Amino acid sequence: MTAMVIIGAGQAAGQTAASLRQGGYKDEIVILGDEAHPPYQRPPLSKQYLSGEHGLERVYLRPEKFYADQSIDLRTGVTVSSINRTQKTVMLDDSQIIHYDKLLIATGSRPRKLNIEGSDLKGIHYLRTIADVDGIREAMKSAKSVCIVGGGYIGLEVASVAVVAGLEVNVLEMEDRILQRVTTSRMSEFYHSLHSNRGVKIHVNTACSGFSGVDGKVAEVICGASAINADLVIVGIGIIPNVELARDAGIDCGNGILVNDHCQTSDPDIYAAGDCTNHPNPILNRRLRLESVPNAMDQARTAAANMLGGDKIYAAVPWFWSDQYELKLQMVGFSMDGETEVLRGDKDTNQFAVFYLHEGAVVAVDAVNSPREFMVAKQLYGKQVNAADLSNPEFELKSLVGK
Ligand SMILES: Cc1cc2nc3c(=O)[nH]c(=O)nc-3n(C[C@H](O)[C@H](O)[C@H](O)COP(=O)(O)OP(=O)(O)OC[C@H]3O[C@@H](n4cnc5c(N)ncnc54)[C@H](O)[C@@H]3O)c2cc1C
Repeated sequence: MTAMVIIGAGQAAGQTAASLRQGGYKDEIVILGDEAHPPYQRPPLSKQYLSGEHGLERVYLRPEKFYADQSIDLRTGVTVSSINRTQKTVMLDDSQIIHYDKLLIATGSRPRKLNIEGSDLKGIHYLRTIADVDGIREAMKSAKSVCIVGGGYIGLEVASVAVVAGLEVNVLEMEDRILQRVTTSRMSEFYHSLHSNRGVKIHVNTACSGFSGVDGKVAEVICGASAINADLVIVGIGIIPNVELARDAGIDCGNGILVNDHCQTSDPDIYAAGDCTNHPNPILNRRLRLESVPNAMDQARTAAANMLGGDKIYAAVPWFWSDQYELKLQMVGFSMDGETEVLRGDKDTNQFAVFYLHEGAVVAVDAVNSPREFMVAKQLYGKQVNAADLSNPEFELKSLVGK
């Protein structure tokens, strides 16, 4: 009897366990997760679960009974405190020891925290887990004004839910435009106008320097010489990969746990998948640390196949999405890789796609409410195209695929 042990019970962990069974593995699978829930999807947390549109059952990756039905030993509420690579064991925080033959580290990431004056006041929230959102939803019931620190995708998704719920919403962004880290000026401007038109006040070039409170609860967000009233603060300033377990066990880490194209770490019996990893991408020809569901799911499938003795390579063009109001943004590749932008469609209709070209080849696309353009763009990655064809709405994009 062999044992596959998975640390973390998130998106990558849940998929790895399912893929191990689909791959025909009959022996023991143990998932060890420190949250109270079975593996779940985080995207709805800043979208439909925050707004109350989706309940928990739509957030869980699979129904709870799936794990028992598949003889997967899912242990929630347990924290792995160390890995012993010589003994091939992991230790839990209650000192229990569990043996593994192959181990998967899928510990995800955690929110980067603010450490400034007043940052421990009540009413200041981060958003990573179901428990975090339950706290925010409760606070939103009595809040009048919310201040969101960080104008990235998560902050802006929360802004859209909060303003629709009738709250006064301020967004603080220390850079000179929102989404600066992830997209181009054109897209930043589009989303800035979208939010402003819906009543969100966006403050760029504005760093939060502290908080002041009344009776231990936040009342103001301090930005240098000025202050913004807020009875609820949500901080979304990025994440830090959870690499400590791996690093302390002597596994190679850089910006994430370093894995090869088989999702294998520097220890051949230990694999890693999801947000915590840093992997080589043979299509983009560089190493990446991604924070996305497609990456977590594809790495999980790759890791599972290789844990079973396979020879599967992870090679995918990264893609992402974000939902704000009634707009679905779907992205392929990294827009900063292109030097030419080609607009297809009309931004004023909230339905358009921007193609990014490098030396005439498609390297990225941002598609707003344009799923067809997104699907085609995924297949056009790296292909030489004519910019005039892309911008012509009459031109059938599909005809470029396969050329
Ligand atoms: C609010 C929000 C919105 C998002 N929206 C999108 C989106 O629209 N599209 C998109 O593609 N991606 C989105 N993401 C990112 C996406 O959810 C993550 O990339 C994905 O969840 C990564 O999966 P994972 O399995 O690597 O990590 P996680 O899902 O974070 O799972 C890791 C788990 O391991 C646990 N853990 C860590 N250390 C230990 C330990 N020592 N012992 C036991 N357990 C441990 C953690 O607590 C966690 O439960 C969003 C993320 C958030 C937070």
